[in-house]
Amino acid sequence: MSDHHHDHDHDHENAHDRPLSGPALRVKALESLLVEKGLIDPKTLDEIVDTYEHRVGPRNGARVVARAWVDAAFRERLLADATAAVAEFGFIEPHAEDMVAVENTPAVRNLVVCSLCSCYPWPVLGLPPAWYKSDAYRARAVVDPRGVLKAFGEDIPEDVEVRVWDSTAEMRYLVVPERPAATEGWSEEALAALVTRDSMVGVGTAKRPEGGA
Ligand code: FE
Repeated sequence: MSDHHHDHDHDHENAHDRPLSGPALRVKALESLLVEKGLIDPKTLDEIVDTYEHRVGPRNGARVVARAWVDAAFRERLLADATAAVAEFGFIEPHAEDMVAVENTPAVRNLVVCSLCSCYPWPVLGLPPAWYKSDAYRARAVVDPRGVLKAFGEDIPEDVEVRVWDSTAEMRYLVVPERPAATEGWSEEALAALVTRDSMVGVGTAKRPEGGA
């Protein structure tokens, strides 16, 4: 009864490998009910999920970061008004939230959290990873950001300031990681491939070029 036919099951292979957890089960139950009552079309729902899983995703954010690395004027616009600067890319913008870009430097590391729930800059990063929504991350990022970064393999020297940005429904944050060394003259596209989701949440850095130190 709760089953409906997906016509693109290949998109959901991973999800089918795992039993549904508490919240996922509740969502599934709600979905079934809404479909049953004729309130939603399962195809529309699948399309929304597919959009955030595959078309939005962190690649949008990576393009924004790469442009900031190569284009000084864009970087200034991004840091001054990220909502407007990101809008230049024409990504879908389903939320009316404002976006703020914060830049890592040799002296400053930025870390994004939503201590209340799981607010996340969907238009640039897609769906938040499970750890971002976990109680542990949300509670600890605020009180012990260095400890959280260490857990992600990032040992932050004492003389580097760590700034924590607590997201809300109205304000989402995007970290602009430092541009990796030895990437002078790289194209925006090649640079974007170095920008990871984790680096834009602040728990990681951009990838180093292959073969680099
Ligand atoms: Fe939230």
